[in-house]
Amino acid sequence: MMIIENVRLLHFHPGSVSAPTDIAIEGARIKEVGPGLAAKYPGAERVSPGGYVSPGLVCSHNHFYSALARGLSVAIEPSKDFAQQLRNLWWRLDRALDEGIVRASGLAGAAEALRWGVTAVVDHHASPDFIDGSLDVLREGFDATGLRGILCYETTDRNGPGEGSAGVAENLRFAKRVDAERASGKEIQVEAAIGAHAPFTVSDATLGLLSGAVRSSKRGLHIHVAEDKYDAVDSRHRFGADICARLDKAGLLGPKTILGHGLYLSREEVDLVNERDAFLAHNAQSNMNNAVGYNHQLPLYRNAVLGTDGIGSDMLASANFAFFKHRDAGGPLWMDAFLRMLQDGNRLLERYFPGRKFGRVEAGFEADLAFWDYDPPTPLTDGNVAGHAAFGMNSAMVSSTMVAGKFAIRNRIPAFDYAAAMASGREQTIRLWKRMEERK
Ligand SMILES: [Zn+2]
Repeated sequence: MMIIENVRLLHFHPGSVSAPTDIAIEGARIKEVGPGLAAKYPGAERVSPGGYVSPGLVCSHNHFYSALARGLSVAIEPSKDFAQQLRNLWWRLDRALDEGIVRASGLAGAAEALRWGVTAVVDHHASPDFIDGSLDVLREGFDATGLRGILCYETTDRNGPGEGSAGVAENLRFAKRVDAERASGKEIQVEAAIGAHAPFTVSDATLGLLSGAVRSSKRGLHIHVAEDKYDAVDSRHRFGADICARLDKAGLLGPKTILGHGLYLSREEVDLVNERDAFLAHNAQSNMNNAVGYNHQLPLYRNAVLGTDGIGSDMLASANFAFFKHRDAGGPLWMDAFLRMLQDGNRLLERYFPGRKFGRVEAGFEADLAFWDYDPPTPLTDGNVAGHAAFGMNSAMVSSTMVAGKFAIRNRIPAFDYAAAMASGREQTIRLWKRMEERK
C-alpha cells in the first residue's frame, strides 16, 4: 500500500478543493481518502509530494500517428479546401507510415501525454501500408510507459479494394486479443474500439462490416463525422441520408460511439446522437488549424468530450483552446462547461472498462492521478477552479502522473526512458519525411 500524505484534492468539475488530506492506494485503486491515513497504515510506503492532486486527464480523440509530423519539413502543395488538405498532407503522412514509424510515434505520443498529467488517450490510428498488427505495435508505447488507452484502426475504402475489410479485421483482431487477455485474468489497461475514418470514405458494404464488428465485439464505433461540410453534403448526395441517419440505420450509434468533430451535423442529427447516448469529441485546436469552421452546437450535446486530434496531448491546453475559441465565437458557455467536457472523458472510459470507476479522487476509483505544483497568487477555492484553469494553470505544473496506482512520472522523473523515446522519434522522423517525399 502507498499513502500520499498531506495533499489537497483538486477536482476540475464540479470544481472543488479540499483541505490537506491523505490518499491510500492499494494496487490499481484508491482504497481510502481522509486525514490520518499514514498513522492508520504504518507499514505503507509514504509519499509527500505537496501541492494538489487531481484525477488524471483524459484525451478522448487523438492520433499518435501524427506525433512525428511536428516541424514537418516536406514540400506540401497548398490546398484550396479541406478535402485537398487531406490528400496533400494527412493522407500522404499516413500512407508513409510503416511498422518502425508507428512504433516510434506511439511511444513518443504516450511519453508526452503522461508529462501533461494525461492518464488515458483514446487513439484513432491509420497506417494504410501497415494495417495488420498495427494496433499491437501502437500499444507497445502504452505498455512501455504505463499510459491507459482505447485504440482502434481507421477503416476506410479510400485507397482501393480490400482496404475496408482489412481495417475491420484489424479492429476485430485487436478487440479479441483484449478479450482473451481479460479472460486469462489480466488487468486490462488498453481497450479496443471499432474505428472508421469518416463516412465519405466508407462504402455501405464496409459500413455493414463495421456494424457486424461493433455487434460481435460489443465495442463502439470511433469515427470522424462532418469535420468539414463536404462530409455532410457527400452523405446526402451519394447515400441519400444525413450522416447520423446513415450510421444509425447500420446500428452504429450507441452509448459507446465516439463521433469526432461534428461541425456540420443538423439539429435532427444532434438530437439523434443524444437519444442514442453517444459521445461527441470536440477538437478545438485542430478545427482552428484546418480552418474548417466552428461547432456552434456544442452546448446542445448530452455527452461532449475533448480531444486534440493529433496536436499533442496537452488536455488542459485543449480545454483552454475550446473555451477561448467559444468566447471568440460569441458562445454562452464559461470555462466550467469545458472542464465538464474534460471530466466526461472519464464517463467514456467507464463504458469501455466495465466495473471500473474513473475521474474522482475517492475510495473505489482507479488511482489515475495528476500531481500539480501550483502556488497561486489568489485563493483557489471550490467556486473558482475554472478561473484558475483558464487564467493561471498550465500542464507544465504537473510534477507527477500515476496510472493504475503506479507512478509513470514521479517528481518530473519518468519511470521509463523518456530520452530514448524522443531519440527514436527523431530517428524515425527522418525516414517518415523521406517516405512522404516519395509518395506524392
Ligand atoms: Zn481525428
